[in-house]
Amino acid sequence: MCVFDTMEICEIFYSIQGEGVWTGYPTVFVRLSGCNLRCRYCDTTYAYGPGEVMSIDDVMRRVDGFGVRYVCVTGGEPLLQEDTVLLIDRLLKRGYNVSLETNGSIDIKSLIERFKDFSTFTVSCDIKCPSSGMHDKMRLENVGYLRKVDQLKFVVKDKEDYRYAKKIVEKGKPSCVVLFQPVWGEDPKQLAAWLLKDKLDARLSLQIHKVLWGEKRGV
Ligand code: SF4
Repeated sequence: MCVFDTMEICEIFYSIQGEGVWTGYPTVFVRLSGCNLRCRYCDTTYAYGPGEVMSIDDVMRRVDGFGVRYVCVTGGEPLLQEDTVLLIDRLLKRGYNVSLETNGSIDIKSLIERFKDFSTFTVSCDIKCPSSGMHDKMRLENVGYLRKVDQLKFVVKDKEDYRYAKKIVEKGKPSCVVLFQPVWGEDPKQLAAWLLKDKLDARLSLQIHKVLWGEKRGV
C-alpha cells in the first residue's frame, strides 16, 4: 500500500481520447498539476497548479470507478512529479493500458527503460515547434528513445513550424508513429496539403474531442 505517496492532481475525468493513435477510445484522463513550459497556444493553463493533493490509492480508486481499460496520464507536465512513475506502475500492474503524455522537455530514457516489459505502456512525446516559443527547451535526444509503440507529436501553427518538424523527422528517423497536429483554430486543410505534397511518413492528427464538444475543460 502506498498511503504516503501523494500527487497534485488537476482533474480526473472520463472522455473520448481525442489525439494520437488511441484516438476514439473511451479513456480515463489523469491530469497532473504543474508545467515547466508556457506554450503560447496552451489550452491547459488551468493545469499550471496548484492541484488537489491526492494519495495514489485515492487516484487508483477514482480510476477504477470508471471501469474502462484505457488511462491517459497527462498534464501540465506529468514527469515533474516524482510519484508519477509509481502511479504508472500501479496502473500497469492493475492491467490498464496506459499512455503517458509528456511535453518533450524532460529526458524519457529511464522512463521507457523502467516500463519496457509492459506492452500496455506507451509514451506520447511532444516536440514543441517555434510558434510555441518553447522549442529551445526541447530534449531532441528523446526522438531516438521512442519505440515503435510510442508516438512523437508536433503541434503545427504555420509553415515555419511545419518545416522545423519535417527537418526533425527527416534527420531523426523516429521508429514510432509521427503525428502532425494543427494548433486548434488553424485550418487543418493547409497542414494536410503540406503532408500530401511532401509524402511525409507522418499522420495528420485532429483533436476530435474538440471537434465533438468544442474547446472546454474536462472533455
Ligand atoms: S506543455 Fe502543455 S500544459 Fe505546458 S504550457 Fe505547453 S501546452 Fe500548456
